[in-house]
Formats: sequence, C-alpha cells, structure tokens
Amino acid sequence: MRYSEYLLPTAKETPADAEIISHQLMLRAGMIRKLAAGIYNYLPFGLRSIRKVERIVREEMDRAGAIELLMPMVVPAELWQESGRWEQYGKELLRLKDRKAGDFCLGPTHEEVVTDIIRGTIKSYRQVPLNVYQIQGKFRDEIRPRFGLMRGREFIMKDAYSFDMDDAGADRAYEKMFQAYCRIFERCGLEFRAVEADTGSIGGSFSHEFMVLASSGEDAIVSCDSCTYAANVEKAELKAGAGSSAAPAAKLEKVLTPARKTIEEVAEYLKVPTHVLVKTLIVQTDRGETVAVLLRGDRELNQIKLCRLLDCNWIELAPEEVVLGVTGAPMGFAGPVGLNIRLLADHEVAGMTDFVVGANEKDHHFTGVNHGRDFSVEQFADLREAVAGDPCPRCQGKLEIWRGIEVGHVFKLGTKYSEALNAVVLDDQGQEVPLVMGCYGIGIGRTVAAAIEQNHDENGIIFPLPIAPFQVLITVVNPKQDEVMTAAEQLYRDLLDRNIEVLLDDRDERPGSKFKDADLIGIPLRVTVGERGLKNGEFELIERKSTRKTMLPVAETADKLVELIRGGC
Ligand code: ATP
Ligand code: MG
Repeated sequence: MRYSEYLLPTAKETPADAEIISHQLMLRAGMIRKLAAGIYNYLPFGLRSIRKVERIVREEMDRAGAIELLMPMVVPAELWQESGRWEQYGKELLRLKDRKAGDFCLGPTHEEVVTDIIRGTIKSYRQVPLNVYQIQGKFRDEIRPRFGLMRGREFIMKDAYSFDMDDAGADRAYEKMFQAYCRIFERCGLEFRAVEADTGSIGGSFSHEFMVLASSGEDAIVSCDSCTYAANVEKAELKAGAGSSAAPAAKLEKVLTPARKTIEEVAEYLKVPTHVLVKTLIVQTDRGETVAVLLRGDRELNQIKLCRLLDCNWIELAPEEVVLGVTGAPMGFAGPVGLNIRLLADHEVAGMTDFVVGANEKDHHFTGVNHGRDFSVEQFADLREAVAGDPCPRCQGKLEIWRGIEVGHVFKLGTKYSEALNAVVLDDQGQEVPLVMGCYGIGIGRTVAAAIEQNHDENGIIFPLPIAPFQVLITVVNPKQDEVMTAAEQLYRDLLDRNIEVLLDDRDERPGSKFKDADLIGIPLRVTVGERGLKNGEFELIERKSTRKTMLPVAETADKLVELIRGGC
C-alpha cells in the first residue's frame, strides 16, 4: 500500500472527548471515526488490525473444532419472548418495529437465535457435541458508551455456542474454549488473566472472564499472592471471620453528631477510626422490597453479592423519602437499633463489638453498640467488596487487586435456553433430554483497544506484530530524489513479493512529520530510505518497540525483515 494513495488521516492533537490512551491513539492514528455515541466507522488502517484479530480468533476456534456460521443482526421478538429475556433484558436491548408493526430487536447476544437453529436441526445424540460460532456486529444500547471501541453500542463480537448431551460433555467443551482463549490472547501479544466471574443476565452456572491487565480497565480483579485463585471483584468470595472474640464492654449511649452524616464526618467528630463505625444502607430491590444492610464503616457494598442473596436483578439505594419513612430520620442517621425492616449484615460485622451506628434520629448516633444485645441481624453473609490484603478464600494467602479490561467471557449455561426453547434431542435410550449449552464471547474491537492500552509510549502505538495493520513501514525521506525513490520502490516490491504487509510512505511531506506519524501509527518494523544511507549502500532499520536503529546493506534488508517477522520480531 502506498501512503499517498491511502486513507490514513492522522492527527497531532489529542481529541478532547477521548479519556483513555487507546481511544486517543486510535483516533489520532486514523483507525476509527465516531459516527454517533458508541458507534464508529472503522477506517482502513483500523480495520486491518480488527481483521488480524478476527483471523487469529477464527484459526483458534477452527482448531478447537468450532464451526463458523452467521446469524442475522435483526432478531424477531418472539424468540426473545420465548426465553423470557424480552422483558428481562432492559434498556440495553434496542427494540424496533418493521412496516407491519412486528416487534424486532438488534441482537446484543445470540443464545436464542442459535438455540432456534439447533432445535430445528439436531434430533439425536449422534449429532452432538456441536460448537458453532460467528463473528458479527452486536448492538447494546449501553447507558454510558465510552472509551471508543472499548465500550461501544455497536461492536464486533465473536460468539460461540456449544451443545452437549450432558454436564460432562459441556465441561469438556468449556475447557476446550478456555484453552483456545488462552492461545488467542497470547497470540495477540496481550498480558492477561482468566478470572472467575459472575454470570450476570446471560445466566448459567459458572464462568470465567479473560482480563487484560491495564490501569484504565473498568473492572477490578483480585488474585491470590500464593495460589492460582483469581476472580472479578464482583464475584470474589470472602470467608466469614472467626466471629466475635471480645465481649461487649461498652454501654449503649446516644450522642449528638450535629450535621455529621457521612462515615468520615462522624468518625472525625467522635475522634474514632472509620472501622469502628458500622454503616447502615437502606436499599430497595427491583421487586419493591426494602432492606437494611450493615457493613463496617470503611467497606463498600458489593451489589452483585447482595442481589444473589436477595434473589433479585438489581438494587439501588433508597431515596430520601423512603429512608425517612423507615428510619424516621433524614439520610445519614440510619442505624439498626429499633429498625423494623429486614436486617442483613456483612460477615465482618459479626466480629465487631462496641461500635458506632446511626440513631434513626436527626443529628444523633449511638456508641457502644453490640449486635445480639442491642439489635438482632436476620442473616450474616458475604456482602462487601474485597480489598487488597483480604484473606484468599482458597488458601492462607492474601488477595491483591488489579485493574483489567474484559476482552473475553466463557459461560457454562446449562439448560437455561434449551429448556426455555425446547431444544431437546433423543439420547441413546430414546429419551428426550435438553441439550447442555455453553457460550463464549470475545470483543474484537475491545481486544485491539486493550492491546493498544498495553502497548504504547508517549509517541504513539507500538503494535504487537500479530495484530499490526502492516508489518513494515518504508519511510522515503525525500520522494523527489529519483535515486531514493527507486531504491525504496525496489524494496517495496521485494517485500510484497515475499508476502510481507508493507506500507510505503511516499508522501511529499517534511521528513520530521513523517517520522512523527511513523511513531504514532506504530508499525513494528520501519525502514528509512534516505540519501545519506544510500551513499553507503545502506537502509536504516528502526524497531518501533525497542527504538533500536541498525544500518543494513540494501541487498540484505528484505531478508533481514523476513527473518525478524518469522521470529515474531
Ligand atoms: P461488560 O461487563 O464489559 O459490559 P459483558 O459482560 O456485558 O461486558 P459479554 O456479554 O460477556 O459482555 O460479551 C462478550 C464480550 O463482548 C465481552 O467480553 C467484551 O469483550 C465484549 N463486549 C461486551 N460489551 C461490549 C461493548 N459495549 N463494547 C465493546 N465490546 C463489548
Ligand atoms: Mg461479560
């Protein structure tokens, strides 16, 4: 490809609305252009990288025995009604009507559609195991699309679905996909971890997320410093402590805390550390239930754990009027003593004595509070967010916290969809059984963005070779000099003949601006062709990652590049 004939609009300025580095660099390097919130054009340079990731994904899926097909993006409502998700899925599902007023949605994921295919085609145990996949545009009307391709509304996903006769078969399919995912992300040049994850609205019995480690990641993950345990913070289990060791010593006392509402304000006013306070959160569920949840003052509620305990889809902090109704006090003074609603507490509270809580009265708190004596808790459970230093649930080690970007997700679904959609087959005894399913997603665009998040410097992108839009960039210092241009053309043709993906920067621009662009667009291997080098019969090789520069004899350059590319640079 010749740069002068290519569409690669680079920019010097950092775009104002791009918060994270991969988003900034993808815009500046002319990879993507925004069309609407969370909806992007893939420009030629960006598309090449996307296609590279897709190719790696295809190769590994095929190798693992999955079969490619393609499902429609527009899906009739009936299928989603059959599974029950038409009502459940909420506003991320973009619903539309056709000219006959029929209901449709844009597929955010394809469990229903694939299960419909399978129930119409597979009748016998002899036809499974089966694993089918597609690489397709998905649409989710995300509440906060941001970070470019990282969290778009329209995005490209690889989604695979496995069908087996029984749990053991489904476990084998899961393991195969797990291994394939490790190979995919290794081949993309990413540093990642597979972590235990919550199953969310897709449902299912267990799952792992593949997380690319990056400080800008939206997810927090924990890992043990001595065993292999790793999990999304949403899921990270915390063991119950040993229980209360100290007996209550203090008397229950009501104290004045004028206008002190937050944990920090109350702790400062009473001159105690925040961890001797217990906070009382009044929350409401999607089913209209109101409950109180107690946590140590310096801890955060893990909403997913609470939803699981309450068997609901979501919870939210109750609004002021509800807090006033149940506690009799404005927000900031809620406490468990004398409260008349369901009372749940985090395990850690079980081990606390003589603590401080709100007094359900404006400007007042209680000190010297003890559960069992002053109030009783309906249930102690694991309800808080893990923090660094927490004990590992599997061994004696301690948990560390990382930030990560979820690039892939594997689920064991069980029979949720096959039962709802009646995808049953005859087993070897002639009995009808529902198929046991798994589903496996990879965000293609998010993977490219995550790779850039991990591989860049202050000058621009440093593409890992396997997903680089081009392998080699030839920079012609002055294309107006015939001798220089001829030598560059010769190398360009040589590389094309050897199937090397090469971009020839033959633009009539200042050398300085071409070198800046070269740094920005991050092609791994660069050859500079200039008058000075040519006088000695040499080209200059620059490796983008190490910034190492080497002079190479003209005649040996192509061989050297092929060798570097074969070796993975
Ligand atoms: P998240 O928790 O980030 O919202 P999810 O758990 O809803 O993602 P899955 O349903 O597991 O996502 O989708 C499979 C994969 O698709 C994810 O691992 C991610 O790589 C990608 N993906 C999901 N949502 C988006 C999005 N809005 N933009 C880009 N990629 C996405
Ligand atoms: Mg997920």
